[in-house]
Amino acid sequence: MSELKKIAMKTPLVEMDGDEMTRILWKMIKDILIFPYVDLKTEYYDLGLENRDKTGDQVTIDSAMATKKYGVAVKCATITPNAARVEEYHLKEMWKSPNGTIRAILDGTVFRTPIVVKGIVPFIPTWKKPITIARHAYGDVYKNVEATVPAGAKAELLVTEADGSETKYPIHEFKTPGVIQGLHNLDKSIESFARSCFNFALDSKQDLWFATKDTISKKYDHRFKDIFQEIYDAEYQEKFEKNGITYFYTLIDDAVARVIRSEGGYIWACKNYDGDVMSDMVATAFGSLAMMTSVLVSPDGTYEYEAAHGTVQRHYYKHLKGEKTSTNSMATLFAWTGALRKRGELDGLGELVSFADKLERAAIDTIENGIMTGDLASMSTLPNIQKVNSEEFLLAVKEQLEKFL
Ligand code: NAP
Ligand code: MG
Repeated sequence: MSELKKIAMKTPLVEMDGDEMTRILWKMIKDILIFPYVDLKTEYYDLGLENRDKTGDQVTIDSAMATKKYGVAVKCATITPNAARVEEYHLKEMWKSPNGTIRAILDGTVFRTPIVVKGIVPFIPTWKKPITIARHAYGDVYKNVEATVPAGAKAELLVTEADGSETKYPIHEFKTPGVIQGLHNLDKSIESFARSCFNFALDSKQDLWFATKDTISKKYDHRFKDIFQEIYDAEYQEKFEKNGITYFYTLIDDAVARVIRSEGGYIWACKNYDGDVMSDMVATAFGSLAMMTSVLVSPDGTYEYEAAHGTVQRHYYKHLKGEKTSTNSMATLFAWTGALRKRGELDGLGELVSFADKLERAAIDTIENGIMTGDLASMSTLPNIQKVNSEEFLLAVKEQLEKFL
C-alpha cells in the first residue's frame, strides 16, 4: 500500500507503552499490522518500569491526564513492582500499580471480555457469546477494618456525625470468642460505577445485569440496587429502549444460576468481591487469560483499552536469550483495535472503524483457520493445527487482513 492510501486520524490516541514480552509484542503489532495501513497519531507515554522510575512515576499520572483530555488510550501490560523487581531494576521506590493509579484518576470501572473463537470451547457448553464482567473497584471488604474479639466483649458500630451527634448500632454480645468486620462504600463511587456500566452497555449494545444480596443486606446492598435504579430511570431508560437493550436487576444467587444457563452476550456488573471471584470463574471457563481483553471506562466516557494478562515474564526471559517465543498477541491486538475503533467513532472516521473491524476479523479467522500460538494450540479442538511463533502469527494475520482491504 502506498503512503497516500493510509487511513488518516484526527485526534491522537494516548499510547501507554509497557514492559517485557508485551512491550516486544507492542512494537511488532504496530510495525506489522498498524503502521502500513493507518497514519497513526498517538501521544506516546513510556510506562516501562525504567521510565516510571526515572520520572518518579510522573509519566503514569501524565498519561492518565492525557486520557482525560483526549478520551481514548491504549495501554501495554506493565510490571507492578514487588521486592524482587526493586532489585532487578534497581528502583528508587516500589512504585504503585500503574493500573491502580490510572483507575484512581479516571474513576473508572474495568470491563473484561473474552475473545471467543472456534476451537477454543468454553467449559460451559451453553456459552456461545462472550460474557463481560464489570467489577466495582472501590471499598467493601477491600477497605475493611476487622478484629478478633474475646469472650465477654460487646461490639457496637459507632457513627459520629459532623455536628458531633452519635448513633450506636449493636453488633453482637460475645459469650464466646469471635470476629468482627466493618465495611463501607460511597454513594459517589457507586454512582460512577453505575454510569460506567450503563455507558458501556449502550456502547456495546448489550444487556446489563446487576446483582447484589439486597434481601439479606437491606441497607448496604440495597443502596447499590437503589442507586443503579435511580440513575437508570433518570438518565438511561430511554436510551436503552431506543437501542433495544435492557437493564436487569436480580439477586446474586439467581444471577449465578442464570449465567450458567445462559448463552452469554451481556454485561454482568458485580460488587467488588463478587467481581473478583466471578471474573476468575468466567475467565477460566472461557479458556485462556491470553484471550481476555479489558477496558477501563470512566463515568464521563473516557476509555482505556488493554489486555487482561501481564507482561508474560517467562517468555521475555526466553526472548532475551535469543529464543523465538510463541506468545499470544490477541488481547494486546484487540486493545489496539478497540482503541482505534472508539477513536474512529468519536471522530466520525468510518474508515478507521471499519479497519478495526477487519483487523479483528482477520485475527479471529487466522486462529479459526488453524494458525495459532502455543497456548491455544494446546487447547484447540480444531484439526490440522499449525503452531507458530509470535511474529509468524502476526504475519499470518496480516496476510488474512490484506484479503479484506
Ligand atoms: P502473566 O504475564 O499474565 O503470565 C502468566 C502466565 O500466563 C505466562 O507465564 C504464560 O504461561 C501465560 N500467559 C499469559 N499471557 C500470555 C500470552 N499473551 N501468551 C501466552 N501465554 C500467556 O503473569 P506473570 O508472568 O505472573 O506477571 C508478569 C508481570 O505482569 C508481573 O510483574 C505483574 O506485575 C504484571 N501484570 C501486569 C498486568 C497489567 O499491566 N494489566 C496484569 C497482570 C500482571 P506459560 O509460562 O505457561 O507459557
Ligand atoms: Mg482475583
